[in-house]
Amino acid sequence: MKKGLTIGHLYPDLLNLYGDRGNIQCFRKRLEWRGMEADVREFSLDDPVDFSKLDLILLGGGSDREQMIVCGRLREIKKEFRDYVEDGGAVLAVCGGYQLLGHYYDTQDGRIEGLSLVDLVTEQGSPRLISNEVIENPSFKMPIVGFENHGGRTRLGDCEPLGTVRFGYGNNGEDGHEGVLYKNVIGTYLHGPLLPKNPHVCDWLLGRALERKYGDGTLSPLDDRQEEEANRYIAARFAGGAAAGAGNRKAGRGRSHAAHGGNA
Ligand code: GLN
Repeated sequence: MKKGLTIGHLYPDLLNLYGDRGNIQCFRKRLEWRGMEADVREFSLDDPVDFSKLDLILLGGGSDREQMIVCGRLREIKKEFRDYVEDGGAVLAVCGGYQLLGHYYDTQDGRIEGLSLVDLVTEQGSPRLISNEVIENPSFKMPIVGFENHGGRTRLGDCEPLGTVRFGYGNNGEDGHEGVLYKNVIGTYLHGPLLPKNPHVCDWLLGRALERKYGDGTLSPLDDRQEEEANRYIAARFAGGAAAGAGNRKAGRGRSHAAHGGNA
């Protein structure tokens, strides 16, 4: 029988800002190119979720209003979701979905309770943090690049960030951290087509999910020259050759706010 992964996309009708769905396509293609199958299951709010059938979960971004709707449902699946994570289940949670991994997200309209899967909290701030972003993590062979647009400021408790901000704002615009890496869970403010831009992140998640399912997470190499070239271009354009730090974060800030508003 062919190897493959079952990928659960939680609440794409509500959490799908900036084309987060493209991340599912990236999972699928990178499995298929290696002769493996992707069985993608979309869950709406009322659908029961059997976590024992899932190998990889995507929780996308959403507006505060949509997060509030989802939060009621998350309360009901919190225990099963936590067991899945503690058992090494792979998760990609983006922006609004990332905030929901934590204990809470405080907004001007009230508290959105999170899943408490990861030790982090989020509070709404002003202005929104909107920028291209470049981050680095020595465990990944290339920088991770993307785009952020969030009102929430996230602070990590007892867990590691996904990376260090070289350009952009990251979790809160202050501590130089972006996202979270906990067991086989990646939470990040980088949304839109995060994985096509960062195939190394896609393969990290696929590898972890395959390892858990088959005891072997080895992935055959793919021809990623174009993706790597694009990643290099973006990293050089925004973060330059040297580690960028606060100076470049300010540059991102100046450029970003004018065109956006609202509580996305
Ligand atoms: N509503 C959240 C915020 O503004 C998340 C936004 C998003 O998912 N892009 O912080």
